[in-house]
Amino acid sequence: MTDSLDRRPGAAPPPDRGASAVAADAGTRVHLVRLVLREIRLTLREPFRISSGLVTERRILLVELTDADGVTVWAECVAGEQPNYSAETIDTAWHAIEAWVAPRVLGRAFDGPWALRPALERDFRGHPMAKAAVEMGAWALAAERAAVPLARLLGGTQRAIPTGISLGIQAHPDLLVDRARAAQAAGYRKIKLKIQPGADVAYVAAVRAAVGPGVALMADANSAYTIDDAEHLARLDEFGLTMIEQPLGRDDLVQHAALQRRLRTPLCLDESITDADRARDMLALGSGRIVNIKPGRVGGFASSVAIHDVCQAAGVPVWAGGMLESGVGRAYNVALASLPGFTMPGDLSPSARYWARDVVTPEWTMSADGLVTVPLERPGLGVAVDVDRIDDLTVRTQQLDAPQSAPQSAPQSAPAGAPVPSP
Ligand SMILES: [Mg+2]
Repeated sequence: MTDSLDRRPGAAPPPDRGASAVAADAGTRVHLVRLVLREIRLTLREPFRISSGLVTERRILLVELTDADGVTVWAECVAGEQPNYSAETIDTAWHAIEAWVAPRVLGRAFDGPWALRPALERDFRGHPMAKAAVEMGAWALAAERAAVPLARLLGGTQRAIPTGISLGIQAHPDLLVDRARAAQAAGYRKIKLKIQPGADVAYVAAVRAAVGPGVALMADANSAYTIDDAEHLARLDEFGLTMIEQPLGRDDLVQHAALQRRLRTPLCLDESITDADRARDMLALGSGRIVNIKPGRVGGFASSVAIHDVCQAAGVPVWAGGMLESGVGRAYNVALASLPGFTMPGDLSPSARYWARDVVTPEWTMSADGLVTVPLERPGLGVAVDVDRIDDLTVRTQQLDAPQSAPQSAPQSAPAGAPVPSP
């Protein structure tokens, strides 16, 4: 399918959204003059294994955006260390932002954050996570300038988000049962089990038996199966799963449609839904009945909102996935998940699930009944970024300036694309 920008809110303010009235205001104009890229290292409290690999430490790319009036916001790129979820990695994203994203946005005045997506898509294929980091930062900057919470600028209506947990693959079903019981006791509204061939039916059966029939349980395979496994996957039907996420190829829609016809359990697509056109294709083909929206995967908020709108119009529920983000990335996911079509619990675990100490204050928490509160008390991201902590964790930094904003007589102010050594 072609990437038809004219059908996306990225091409213009969304016409039917309360946010458009806010976003169209001059207060949300986006005029970026500086991006500072930082790599921080955060060690996970517990290693996380999915079918395609193991993560023990996150290398996280944070971007500090500054506009012409000196307003700054922080954003996060969700690309991983290895190209095992998508083709992008933190290193390719760093390069893409430096080489192609920054030159398209720095020093240019956009009428609003929705205007960045067309500028980032025109003759610039791929690299959605690199694009999303800056595009989403522009939305937060616009919210900050307009003195409204990011969730409201996006059109969010929910004040608290039901939250699920994603449990990595364990060495034995009993270990998974222990974690599922703990998640149930902690109040999570949905328990997601990562599965792969050899760690699927027996694991799901053990957890279902342990937590009982009333718990929302689902499985995520991260593309570990083929259509030849259809008979095997159909065995999962007996466990009353809310959904099976992305069992087949990462860019497949046709075989997922064939599989869906053989399963009672709804399929949810993650990796395969890269933009609103792919969501429309999913609906046309019957490839799934639920969509996991990760803004990093789809190029940012304009694209995420477009996918949300397509699904909502079709009566297809969506929910917010996670990418082991720091508290910065979590703020963006929570804001997006406040949109009305996000009717299923999101993977928005509190900070303490992943980190000994997060990089935001207050840290993200979850209530005893599994709700994460949308921070509506303060504008922008709704949480403060702990810059001292980020300074301590930073292993690499690069400053990119708009050419016209770099003083001619200031050699320490690097032009766009020029590396600046780490402090
Ligand atoms: Mg997934």
